[in-house]
Amino acid sequence: MSQQSVSNGVGTLYVVATPIGNLGDFSHRAEEVLRSVSCIAAEDTRHTRRLLQHYGIGTPLMPLHEHNEARAMEKVMAMLRGGESVALVSDAGTPLVSDPGFLLVRECRRQGVKVSPVPGPSALVAALSVSGLPTDRFCFHGFLPRQRHARREKLDALRNSSATLVFYESSHRIESAMADLAEVLGPQRRGCLARELTKRHEEILDGTLAELAERVAADADRRRGEFVVLVAPAEASATDGRLELEADRLLLLLLEELPLKQAVSLAARLTGGNKNRLYQRALELR
Ligand code: SAM
Repeated sequence: MSQQSVSNGVGTLYVVATPIGNLGDFSHRAEEVLRSVSCIAAEDTRHTRRLLQHYGIGTPLMPLHEHNEARAMEKVMAMLRGGESVALVSDAGTPLVSDPGFLLVRECRRQGVKVSPVPGPSALVAALSVSGLPTDRFCFHGFLPRQRHARREKLDALRNSSATLVFYESSHRIESAMADLAEVLGPQRRGCLARELTKRHEEILDGTLAELAERVAADADRRRGEFVVLVAPAEASATDGRLELEADRLLLLLLEELPLKQAVSLAARLTGGNKNRLYQRALELR
């Protein structure tokens, strides 16, 4: 059912973005909407209460988090069908972006209940906008798996992605995640580490994945806070003609002395280049 078919008397679900650190990023419209609705469904009501107190907003809160989303959804749907409007917020940034709310929004769309965004901060877009990496195509992967083996498998599957890769990461795993990124995607691949965006200790580092991993490992302060990790697309190095030429020269030399597989493996280790691509290139050169 499209939004045009929403019947009168049904409320609206507002999906409202909140600051990712700096309260100054809370929009005027977000404030107005949170003031005007009957209820605010919040990931953590204690957290959101502090925001509401700061702005003197007295709207009642109800919890909607990953452990109660299905039950909370029924409650919100009943309110919406009864003609009351509800706002959905998460602890920080845009709801549904690595945050709860998907079940509720999907149900509203299914039932033809109007869902309206109140856009604002999201760590993903904020980091991308300052990373200096290509933004025409990017792929957001949320949090990487916690287990090393699963994480490396996931990264391996993304090696050839032609989009900028974006991940969220926590302080507990940033060091091991950066080490895996450098190892699996290649130490020379460029990346960006956006830490504590919009907060007092905001820091945006760029460099090769090996450099970034080293800087994180070398300084405990660099492992504090919240992180967005961005990685340049695989093509970035392939389209660099000079690097391609150097890789070709190296491959030709190695192919003179070694079997193809060994030559490719060594070239990949020496250049940090993509193994599959080097393999294809070695076949062409041979
Ligand atoms: N919905 C949020 C959004 O739109 O950005 C993301 C919620 S997710 C549960 C939390 C993760 O987002 C953090 O672990 C971190 O990776 C990232 N994040 C949130 N705030 C951040 C900030 N100020 N600086 C860097 N990363 C941040």
